[in-house]
Amino acid sequence: MNTSESLLRIRDLVVEFVSDGRVSRAVDGVNLDIWPAETVGLVGETGCGKSVTALSVLGLIPSPPGKVSGGEIQFEGQDLLRLGPDQLRRLRGEGISMVFQEPMTSLDPSFTIGSQMTEVLAAHRSVRGSAAAAEARRMLELVRMPHAPRVMSQYSFELSGGMRQRVMIAMALLCQPRLLIADEPTTALDVTVQDQILALLDDLRRETGTAILLITHDLGIVAENCDRVYVMYAGRIAEAAGVDDLFDEQLHPYTRGLMGAIPDLTVKSARLVDIPGDVARADASLPGCRFAPRCPHAMAVCTGDPPAMRAFRGGREVACYLHT
Ligand code: SF4
Repeated sequence: MNTSESLLRIRDLVVEFVSDGRVSRAVDGVNLDIWPAETVGLVGETGCGKSVTALSVLGLIPSPPGKVSGGEIQFEGQDLLRLGPDQLRRLRGEGISMVFQEPMTSLDPSFTIGSQMTEVLAAHRSVRGSAAAAEARRMLELVRMPHAPRVMSQYSFELSGGMRQRVMIAMALLCQPRLLIADEPTTALDVTVQDQILALLDDLRRETGTAILLITHDLGIVAENCDRVYVMYAGRIAEAAGVDDLFDEQLHPYTRGLMGAIPDLTVKSARLVDIPGDVARADASLPGCRFAPRCPHAMAVCTGDPPAMRAFRGGREVACYLHT
């Protein structure tokens, strides 16, 4: 692949947090690429650094206690880590938008949905008045919102969870971003609504060409919705592959453990559970591979230097001494 064409290019990203004088490395040397109009999964257990990676892209790491302490993040060739606050604000929405797990925390209950949407249009696209209202309505219809005109005058607490998530997606798309980051966008929803929202995201990707970074701990969602996937463990990428390749054969013992923990991959909401041992803490002063204490194949070399990411057959990559 030609890296110069990637929409988002992350190299050697390091994000640290300081708490009680201790430094924890939530993200430790992450590399990740997203090409236009593809859906990429970032999968791993809770606390593995998926969301922190996404927040770094948007310049939203709370500082202090957090800080991006190394690496580079390029979006359409632009170095995001060098942007000032105003440039970052413009980028959020116009270039990259984010949809979070719980829309209630992102929507303001004291303003109608319509006024919140038109405010976004005024701030990012200088569209106001009836033109903004018409565009907001059009976007609600694009996300298949039932009774879109009525929803414009409603408040977030009057809507169901699925409707609120549709509003969030509509708001995220108002400024026609080239990349949409969806962080566990369906975790709070029941399975039927979950399916509808994921199908909607896929339709929108096809219709608008917006690339999607789908953050999830649910391998069933990855199997059904992603083109490629990055598996993350304790702040590092363990394995990267096309989804079909990954589900055919797992190269990293952690990925194998995840798959082994799932009795039937066609079952929706397959959670990442039941790998023996505890997830490594990001601040553990563990040398070498962070998966070693749980790995059935651990060797002496695994506790020396951390395994580097290596290209493997079929364009996939893996960080494991079994594949050097
Ligand atoms: Fe297991 Fe070693 Fe590979 Fe880590 S590097 S996953 S400990 S075999």
